[in-house]
Amino acid sequence: MGELQRLEKLYEGKAKRVYKTNIEKQFIVEYKDDATAFNGEKKGTISNKGLINNEMSAHLFKILADAGIENHFIELLNEREMLVKSVEIIPIEVMIRNVVAGSLAKRLGLDEGTELSKTVIEFAYKSDELGDPMINDYHIDALNLATKEQLDTIKSLSIKINEVLEKYFLEKDLRLIDYKLEFGLFENRVILADEISPDTCRLWDVNTNEKLDKDRFRRDLGNVEESYIEVLRRLKA
Ligand code: 5GP
Repeated sequence: MGELQRLEKLYEGKAKRVYKTNIEKQFIVEYKDDATAFNGEKKGTISNKGLINNEMSAHLFKILADAGIENHFIELLNEREMLVKSVEIIPIEVMIRNVVAGSLAKRLGLDEGTELSKTVIEFAYKSDELGDPMINDYHIDALNLATKEQLDTIKSLSIKINEVLEKYFLEKDLRLIDYKLEFGLFENRVILADEISPDTCRLWDVNTNEKLDKDRFRRDLGNVEESYIEVLRRLKA
C-alpha cells in the first residue's frame, strides 16, 4: 500500500479541510484555527484551536469507540491532522440538548441553564447559505436527506452517545449542556463523523457554571484559548 500521502482537497469548511489520500476509503481531516459564529458573520481565529480540537476529538472518538460506538476516527497523524474513514456526510446537523441554552433559550423564552426533564434532539439542514435552518423528521423524509431507517439509527446512536459523553464529561467536572453531531455513511452503515470539541459543544464547569466553550468567542467573554486548553487538560487528566 506504501506510505500515506495527502492528495487533493475534497472539501473546505469553516473549521476543517478534508483531503483525499492514496489509501482507499481513508481521508485526512485538517483542523484550522479559524473561528466563525452567527452563520459566518463574526470571524476570527482562536490560537491553537486546530491543535486542541484535533486532539480533543481524537480523545472523545476513542472513548466512544471503546463504548462500542463506531465513528470515523482511525488515528492521529500529527498536531493538526487525523486519518478518518471516508464517510459521505449526511447533510443533517443533529443537536442534542440536556440543558436549555443558546437558540433554544431564545426560541422558547426560557432561562439558560434550565434543566430539561428529558434529552431533546433537534435537526438542522446543513447549509451555510441558508444558515442551517431547523427541520423535522418529515422534511428529512420528504427531501430524501436520510431514509427512515437511517434516521432511526441517527436517533438511537445520538441517545447512546449522549449517555456516554454526559457521564464522561461529568467525571471531568464538566456539564455537557448541548452539542452538535454529524453522521455519515460508510460501507452502507450510519456512523458518527465530524468533530466533538468546544466548537461544537457547550461545556460548563460543574461547580461555577463558567462557560468553557465557543460561547466565549461568540459572546466576547475573553479567555477563549485558555478555556479550550482547560477542557483538554481535564479530559486528559
Ligand atoms: P444552538 O442551536 O443553541 O445555537 O446550538 C446548540 C449546540 O449545537 C451548541 O453546542 C452549538 O455549539 C452546536 N452547534 C449548532 N450549530 C452549529 C454549527 O453550525 N457549528 C458548530 N460548530 N456548532 C453548532
